[in-house]
Amino acid sequence: MSNECSEDTTTPEGQPRRCTSCGAAIDTREWYPVVAVPGDGYRIYAFCDEACRGRWQRERGK
Ligand SMILES: [Zn+2]
Repeated sequence: MSNECSEDTTTPEGQPRRCTSCGAAIDTREWYPVVAVPGDGYRIYAFCDEACRGRWQRERGK
């Protein structure tokens, strides 16, 4: 018996996403900025607006 199918922890549909930078709830029915970070697969980071995304990218890219 093998159980190698590991589910990743993506946000379930209908759940509000939170801004990676400030933690504000994001309305996923509207467009919102995201950043895809390559690594072990792609991680998708969501942001409440482009200012938050820019700030996060600057802090990250030090
Ligand atoms: Zn934010």
